[in-house]
Amino acid sequence: MESAPLEINGNTPIYCLIGHPVGHSLSPAMQNAALAGAGLEGVYVAFDVAPEGLAVALDGLEALGVRGINVTIPHKQGILPLMDKLSPEAKLIGAVNTVEFRDGARWGHNTDAPGFLQSLRACGREPRGSKAVILGAGGSARAVAVALAQEESTLHIANRTEEKARRLAAYLNTQVRPHCAGAGGLGEATLPTELATTDLIINATPVGMAPRGDVAPPIPAAWIPAGALVYDLIYNPWETPLMRAARTAGAQAVNGAGMLAHQGVRSLEIWTGKTLGTRISKLMEHVLRQALASETAGVGEDSR
Ligand code: NAP
Repeated sequence: MESAPLEINGNTPIYCLIGHPVGHSLSPAMQNAALAGAGLEGVYVAFDVAPEGLAVALDGLEALGVRGINVTIPHKQGILPLMDKLSPEAKLIGAVNTVEFRDGARWGHNTDAPGFLQSLRACGREPRGSKAVILGAGGSARAVAVALAQEESTLHIANRTEEKARRLAAYLNTQVRPHCAGAGGLGEATLPTELATTDLIINATPVGMAPRGDVAPPIPAAWIPAGALVYDLIYNPWETPLMRAARTAGAQAVNGAGMLAHQGVRSLEIWTGKTLGTRISKLMEHVLRQALASETAGVGEDSR
């Protein structure tokens, strides 16, 4: 069935993504489907902005009256000093993925953390009070760790570079909640013991991401307890090596499309002031899955 042509006029709200590169981004497809599905006026586009052009691009987007901006690699940290106000999440995580223009000010938000929590709840897992092992200690691990630490979870951060895991755990223990996090290396002998009693295992490394979706999972199936939820932040390929290992172990496994969709919904809610709910996040996930099925080749490191 053909969809109705998009009506664009002089008042059409414009939303956008800025990143570098953004050529393979799935956000325009996802967000335009969400706008249409929610009956909201607007168009969502993507702009490739090099780091040295970030400040001038932001000034320009504001002057043009763009209603809202998503921010992706490599600008999530670089944009912080260009904000007038930061949400508590953006401040704690130290990264902005959503810019709102409100009352003459630039507000920097981070919707990755609430998006992750909402997607967990959408797959029937209550994060509050859970025990979680996070594989990785980069930007997405930090967002997920802050979100879970705020939900009274007990965390273990396991990273290839152990020192980085220790730094993240120390940050969580001092800035979010005392004694909430421990840390170790990804290859450490005690990791299987940590994993044996965990409710949630989160892969925040790019291990298994396209075009290298045929590698070994970051941890073997034998280390995954059957009752755990294995949450891979990767969504391309749709089923990752870690998800296959989880299923072999009898554990529940999900990919990162839910987090991507829920953070996108939260951004739209911030910009429009409307509550959109799970129908729209499901629509976004469906669009992502279709886009990846029809165009798997060439989707890059951050296809947000
Ligand atoms: P990042 O900041 O670059 O961090 C990458 C982390 O992975 C680091 O801790 C790094 O360890 C580790 N790592 C990299 N290569 C590894 C390898 N071969 N073996 C073991 N560990 C390795 O990246 P990020 O932004 O956090 O992204 C991580 C993943 O999450 C990517 O796949 C990204 O696409 C995905 N993601 C998904 C969403 C979503 O909405 N679903 C959002 C953001 C990110 P070292 O410290 O040792 O280098």
